[in-house]
Amino acid sequence: MAFIMEHPSKSALNVMKGIEQPGQINADALKKLRAGKRSGNSVQELIDGIFSGNRTLLSKAITLVESSLPAHQEQAQEVIAACLKQTRSPLSMTNYQLPITNYQLPMTNDKVRNSSIRVGITGVPGVGKSTFIEALGTSLTAKGHKLAVLAIDPSSSRSKGSILGDKTRMEELSVDPNAFIRPSPAAGSLGGVARKTRETIFLCEAAGFDVIFIETVGVGQSETTVHSMVDFFLLLMLAGAGDELQGIKRGIIEMADAIVINKADGDNLNKAKAARVEYANALHLFPPPDSGWTPVTDICSARSKLGIDHVWDIILEHRESTTNSGYFQKRRMEQNRQALYETIEEGLQHHFFSRKEIAHLMAKSEQDILAGLVNPYKAAQELLEQYFKKI
Ligand code: GDP
Repeated sequence: MAFIMEHPSKSALNVMKGIEQPGQINADALKKLRAGKRSGNSVQELIDGIFSGNRTLLSKAITLVESSLPAHQEQAQEVIAACLKQTRSPLSMTNYQLPITNYQLPMTNDKVRNSSIRVGITGVPGVGKSTFIEALGTSLTAKGHKLAVLAIDPSSSRSKGSILGDKTRMEELSVDPNAFIRPSPAAGSLGGVARKTRETIFLCEAAGFDVIFIETVGVGQSETTVHSMVDFFLLLMLAGAGDELQGIKRGIIEMADAIVINKADGDNLNKAKAARVEYANALHLFPPPDSGWTPVTDICSARSKLGIDHVWDIILEHRESTTNSGYFQKRRMEQNRQALYETIEEGLQHHFFSRKEIAHLMAKSEQDILAGLVNPYKAAQELLEQYFKKI
């Protein structure tokens, strides 16, 4: 706090905010949108801005991606398509064609995009995720990496808050010119938020961010979602609390490429060492993962920075091992396949629920179901029949 008071310009208040989904739009704004403009920036300006690493324009483009307005979505898709063309991620390496564009990219940026690494970081609230990200993140940016921190926070639509919205978090990173922090999109279903996060990753990579951290609270379904979009999945744990206490499900432990016991400092150091041994033993009981990588256990202190760089070494080792085995590329391809399904599902759902006649029939079916007049399966079938007749 004292730090913020002394250096108002260095406060964490400039963490970029997610957007509230606008319900309506006025006619003037709509005209502007149809003319291909939003907030004064055309799609081309946004694309150029992203490719030149302009964080303000990157931020605006992400806001466009997060918007649910059809006009914004159309523009967002143009931006994403341009970014994907330019993002020479290993997923497209097999028959990669040089994009025919006018963009002259500095070689360093191009290299960066070739070798991005996406890391999911999870753990219960209070385990030290933001302290850890601050510690590892500042170490990475000091080494010349460009880091984007994104969040998936399933609670944000309910609480209107965000795990990255807390202004006291990541004070150094939030003013670091080589870091970009973006809170979770404020609204939408987990599936919708996840798709937007996936697209945001592509935008960040096209803007030259070579390390992407995706943070999530380790208490539910969002881990599976994060796991489906990262190369490495890190689970942060505390010593002296059983799995049940930490609310971590077996499935999450199974997904982890590394389990790191945080707060290994002071009186807690020995407990952390013991917990590490326990987790290492527990991991032996799980079947070996498809990646061929044996999940690693370690300890660290995000506060004192002990062991933080070692966690990065583990991530790099994993990358080398999975790249050599071909798993790294295979996993990204598989994630792309999954994105195809997710996008189609979401599109169909959106189309279904946005039809006025369906909304009307839905309201009636809901009433009938609540009154016990019809069973939900029959009602659903009738609604679908109506829908298919009308489209
Ligand atoms: P998050 O909710 O998982 O993001 O956790 P935070 O990073 O906000 O940390 C929660 C609390 O634990 C804060 O008071 C931190 O200062 C503290 N904390 C985080 N890492 C460490 C650590 O390595 N050692 C100790 N002793 N405290 C830590």
